[in-house]
Amino acid sequence: MTAKFRFAPSPTGFLHVGNARLALINWLYAKKTGGQFVLRLDDTDEERSTEEYAVGIQDDLTWLGLDWDDLKKQSSRKEEYDRAIDALKSSGRVYACYETAEELEYKRKRQIARKMPPVYDRSALKLTEDEIEKFKAEGRKPHWRFLLDQEKVTWQDDVRGEVSVDCASMSDPVLIRSDGRPLYHLPSVVDDIDFGITHVIRGEDHVSNTALHIQIFKALGADVPAFAHLPLLMGPDGGPLSKREGSQSLRELRGTGLEPMSINSLLARLGTSDNVDAQGDLAAVVEGFDINRFSRAAAKFDPAELKNINARILHEMSWEQASKRLNLEGATEAFWLAVRGNLETIKDAEGWWNVVCGPITPVVEDPEFLAKAAELLPEGPLDAGSWKIWTTAVKDALGVKGKALFMPLRQALTGRSHGPEMNNMLVLIGREKALARLAGKQA
Ligand code: GLU
Repeated sequence: MTAKFRFAPSPTGFLHVGNARLALINWLYAKKTGGQFVLRLDDTDEERSTEEYAVGIQDDLTWLGLDWDDLKKQSSRKEEYDRAIDALKSSGRVYACYETAEELEYKRKRQIARKMPPVYDRSALKLTEDEIEKFKAEGRKPHWRFLLDQEKVTWQDDVRGEVSVDCASMSDPVLIRSDGRPLYHLPSVVDDIDFGITHVIRGEDHVSNTALHIQIFKALGADVPAFAHLPLLMGPDGGPLSKREGSQSLRELRGTGLEPMSINSLLARLGTSDNVDAQGDLAAVVEGFDINRFSRAAAKFDPAELKNINARILHEMSWEQASKRLNLEGATEAFWLAVRGNLETIKDAEGWWNVVCGPITPVVEDPEFLAKAAELLPEGPLDAGSWKIWTTAVKDALGVKGKALFMPLRQALTGRSHGPEMNNMLVLIGREKALARLAGKQA
C-alpha cells in the first residue's frame, strides 16, 4: 500500500514557521517512503477562509519546494460529509441536541461552581418526543453530537510512543452545527478515509482530538491511520514563539531575503538531537530524515540560527544555483565565487555588485600613500596574482605592512573596511576604476 500523507492548513491566514514545519515533515516522510503528499485546504469556515490565503499557502509551499501530488478543498466535499453524517445518524452514533449556546454556557458554569468537570451531560438523549416537538415548534434547529464510547483510546504514536486518552472525561463533540455546517472533526476524518491517508502527522494540540477521531474512523467502518504528534515550536528561551522570533509569516521571512533551504534545513531537524546541517537541496534533507528521531521535548526555534544557516548555505552555493537567485545584470561566476563567503543573505550580493561596477565613493585617509601605491600597480592585465605582487611592491617601496598596508587600499578600492578577499576584488574592479578610486575619485 502506498503511504499517503497530508498537510491540512485552514486558509484563514498565511503559513508561519510552525505550519511550515508540519508541511515539511509530512512531505519528507512521504518522499522517504516513496509515498504521496496531499495538500488539503480546510476551508469549511466560510467567514474566515479566503482565496487569497489559499493561493498564498500554495505559493509559500512552492517557494519552499514542497510540491503536492493532490490538492483537495473541503468546501467542495459537502455531499461526502452529508453521506457520512447520515450513516452516523442511522447507526445512532450522532444525536440531536437543542441547547442554545447560552444554555450550554449556564450548565458549564454550574458544573464548575460545583467542582464538577465541565463535560456535556447528554441531557439531549433523555428528551421526550413532546419536548423535542416543542423545541421544533419554537424554531430551534438541532446541532449533532457524536456519542463517544466512554473508554480509553490507545495508539502507538510515531513521536510520543504509546498514548492513551480517556474519553470518559470528554464531552461528546459537536460534529454538525445547527446551521448544518460540519465542524473540523467530521470532514477531517472523512477526508482521511476517502483520500486513503495512511499517516496523520500534526501538532500535539491535536492529541485529544485524535482519540475521538479514532472513534469516528471506527464508527465509519474505516481503518485507523498511523498518528504522530509533534511538539509545538517554542522561542529560543523556551517560551511561546513571539512575533519577532518566527510566528512571522513565511512571506515575511522570504521578504528578508532568506533562502528557502535555510528554513527547510532548520525545520527538518528541530526537535531531534541531530545536528542541523546547512543543506543546499531537499534531496539531502530527505536522506537524513527519520520520524523516530523527533522527541516529545519542545523544539526551540531560534531566528539567529536560521540566519546562520542561511549564510552557510550561501557560502557553499554554486554559481548555477546563485545565478537563478540573483537579479544582477552582467554578474559572473567569478563575481559570485569572490563574494559568496561574505553574504548573510542573497540581498547582500547587490551591495558587492555595486562595489564592483561603481560608482562608489572611495574612503581616503592618506591620499599621498594611495598616489604612490597607484604608481606601483602592476602593468598588464590584472589577475588573481596581481594583488600579491602589488602589495609586496608597496610594502617594499614604502615600508608599511599588515593592516596599515591593506586597510587603506581596501577602503579606497571598495569604500568599505571589510569584505571579500582583495585579490579577487581587484580583478573584478579592474585597472581603470582602481586607479580612479586610488586617486579619490568616485568611480
Ligand atoms: N486544519 C487543521 C489545523 O490546521 C488540521 C489539523 C489536522 O492535521 O488534522 O489544525
